[in-house]
This record gives sequence, C-alpha cells and structure tokens, in this order.
Amino acid sequence: MSGVQPHNAWIGLGSNIGDRLKSIEDALQALGDRADIDLCAVSSCWETSPVGPVDQDRYLNAVARLRTDLIPRQLLQCLLATEETLGRVRLQRWGPRVIDLDILLFGNQVIDEEGLTIPHPYLTRRRFVLTPLIELCPGLRNPLDGTRLIDNLRQLPAGEEQVRPTSPLRLPPGL
Ligand code: ATP
Ligand code: CA
Ligand code: CA
Repeated sequence: MSGVQPHNAWIGLGSNIGDRLKSIEDALQALGDRADIDLCAVSSCWETSPVGPVDQDRYLNAVARLRTDLIPRQLLQCLLATEETLGRVRLQRWGPRVIDLDILLFGNQVIDEEGLTIPHPYLTRRRFVLTPLIELCPGLRNPLDGTRLIDNLRQLPAGEEQVRPTSPLRLPPGL
C-alpha cells in the first residue's frame, strides 16, 4: 500500500458450495496477496443456516477487516473479480454460491449508488453477518445512525436461523 490515508473496511465472506472452508481461505489469501490491501484480522468461521427464499445447503461465513487505499468502488471491483477467479457463477438471486464477498462497512462512509450500497443494506438484519463482525470488533457502530451493531444483534428476533462456530481457518502468515 502507498500508505496514503488507508481506510478500514469490513468484508463479509460466505460459501455454501464445494469445499466451503477452502473457498473462504482462498479468498482471504487472494485479497491479502494484493499490494493495495492489508488483511488485518479475520473472525472465526461460523456455520449458518441459509436465509431467504431459496432452499440450499448451510453456509460458512466469516468477516475480515482490511486496510486499503482503494476507493470503495475499486474494492467492490476487486471483490467481484476475486469471486469470479474462485469460480462463482451467478444463476439465481440469493442462490448457492462458491464464494460471496460483500463490503459491509468502509470506514464511516455512507454510499448509496447504483450497484454499491454501504453499509451493506442487510447488515443489521443478518445474524450470520453481525455475529462474526461483532466477534471481530465488538464496539462497531452503524455509520447511518450511530447505533451499536451489538445492539442490533441483541434485538434480532429469535428465529430458526442457526449460527455456530466451526472449524478454524488456516490463515495467511502473519495473522
Ligand atoms: P445480498 O446483497 O443480499 O447479500 P448477494 O450478495 O447474493 O446479495 P450478489 O449477487 O453477490 O448479491 O451481488 C449483486 C450486486 O450487489 C453486485 O454486483 C454489487 O454491484 C451489488 N452491491 C451493492 N452493494 C454492495 C456491497 N456493499 N457489497 C457487495 N456488493 C454490493
Ligand atoms: Ca451477500
Ligand atoms: Ca455479494
């Protein structure tokens, strides 16, 4: 990185096809290998039940904190390219996927543009995202209204959605 005012970004990772753990590890490796991204910290890997209209297998989910001098739009392009390299094919909205990489937060920035919304639009409603995010950074607040994300998690209605810790990630050296 050039070191010019890098930003913290929080990325959600998910996979429910094939070797899910390897896909998440490969994505972390690919992001960490880039000169313009520092991979700073990664949550545990959580096994989660699928949410939404599509009947599909359970996911593994994790969250990573990066520092980067990319702007949000460039980071999104990088995530979409990494998904493609790892074999993601989009067949059905919210359908099964080898890897999903979402920008959850980018510093305190609020962005609502065609094709890019930050904070991620479903951040505060998804137990499978909030759990690893808060594990990593318990004090995080929502830049939209200053609420604590841990309070969002506590207030989620108890449902059938399960989120439980699972096998450890093999992380890139240095983490
Ligand atoms: P969800 O958005 O509900 O998590 P998804 O991850 O399955 O759904 P995708 O098919 O992976 O959705 O992405 C569709 C588009 O969402 C992407 O092409 C991208 O332009 C857009 N998008 C908007 N905001 C974000 C964001 N914060 N992170 C990643 N993609 C985003
Ligand atoms: Ca997603
Ligand atoms: Ca996505």
